[in-house]
Amino acid sequence: MFDYLIVGAGFAGSVLAERLASQSGKKVLIVDKRPHIGGNAYDHYDDSGILVHRYGPHIFHTNSREVFEYLSFFTEWRPYEHRVLASVDGQLVPIPINLDTVNRLYGLNLTAFQLEEFFASVAEQKDYIRTSEDVVVSKVGRELYEKFFRGYTRKQWGLDPSELDRSVTARVPTRTNRDDRYFTDTYQAMPLHGYTRMFEKMLSHPNIKIMLNTDYREIQEAIAYREMIYTGPIDEFFDYCYGKLPYRSLEFKHETLNKPVHQPAPVINYPNEHPYTRVTEFKYLTGQEHLKTSIVYEYPQAEGDPYYPIPRPENAELYKQYKALADATPSVSFVGRLATYKYYNMDQVVAQALAIYSQLVQRVLIKI
Ligand code: FAD
Ligand code: UDP
Repeated sequence: MFDYLIVGAGFAGSVLAERLASQSGKKVLIVDKRPHIGGNAYDHYDDSGILVHRYGPHIFHTNSREVFEYLSFFTEWRPYEHRVLASVDGQLVPIPINLDTVNRLYGLNLTAFQLEEFFASVAEQKDYIRTSEDVVVSKVGRELYEKFFRGYTRKQWGLDPSELDRSVTARVPTRTNRDDRYFTDTYQAMPLHGYTRMFEKMLSHPNIKIMLNTDYREIQEAIAYREMIYTGPIDEFFDYCYGKLPYRSLEFKHETLNKPVHQPAPVINYPNEHPYTRVTEFKYLTGQEHLKTSIVYEYPQAEGDPYYPIPRPENAELYKQYKALADATPSVSFVGRLATYKYYNMDQVVAQALAIYSQLVQRVLIKI
């Protein structure tokens, strides 16, 4: 008899398995239909011995001390601040847009103060910032929006920025200084020995059994358990009874090149050229030294594994219907990016899972 059947061994499922087993003495079965743990954060050594992220670049950053300290039980860290260049008008310039981006793009020598004035002169006034287009044009004007955001967003989401919630492009700030870091969070670091090693440590507890290559529906009837934690797509759990929730997918094209360095930055974004959105060179992320180098191209797709919930009002409405069903199913907790249909980063999923763990503990206390 298991206390919990946990569906999915990504961050959501693994954090809950670890807490329930090590802090509450619960017996846990965690199943994943993939052949590995770690969910989308899974990394592994490729045929040339280079550590790569199978499902695209995963850069850890958080402002939450609680989340950082929690994960630090299972890994040491390598300090890492992420930087991205965008290929625009034949140049590679920093993104988020900053002082150097504008000066290089237009051959200018503006000061931060002058750039603020420039942005104020081109920014479009909006009474209400509703869409991903509004966010950008209200800060940097239409021309920079078209150079950096419109094409990338259309490729990535198959939608115009005007059809997406503001939260999508609001992830990328605008700066008038020279700070070229992609993130400014307090904690920015990569697991020293990779994500998979960290997950192995989280899940190595005698109360946790792991079953890979297994869809939970294949074993659900055959196994005795008290409660379920579900981290897969919420619409799939309810057999799409209200219709399919759209998720955006990607195809990853991995390559190993016979040279030590390929590109001048960890990630290059291609807003306006090529069918792919970005190219990542993993050695920058991991600090690994090797005579060869491995890169990945990301090609957005409508069909395929669900990677991104698509933030827009009609999808939020549909999700609400599924959420109501989930709320009426108290023996199952829905956690993570797919099961709560939230465009969450890893740290947000960890925080959500820790919060759900506290709720589960509270519930037990109330029952007692
Ligand atoms: P997942 O990792 O998706 O885990 C869910 C698991 O459930 C999967 O392994 C799946 O196989 C399993 N599952 C589903 N259905 C079933 C079933 N029926 N039976 C058995 N198993 C099932 N976040 C960051 O913080 N920084 C980044 O740089 C970053 N980059 C990203 C880049 C890409 C391309 C993508 C797609 C995401 C990125 N993220 C990043 C987000 C990050 O991947 C997620 O926040 C996090 O991995 C979500 O964890 P999860 O456990 O909710 O979901
Ligand atoms: N974006 C863009 N141009 C860029 C970078 C980002 O238009 O050069 C937009 C795009 O819509 C993207 C969103 O901002 O999906 C969020 O970017 P982020 O880098 O956070 O995407 P993720 O790493 O989650 O794929």
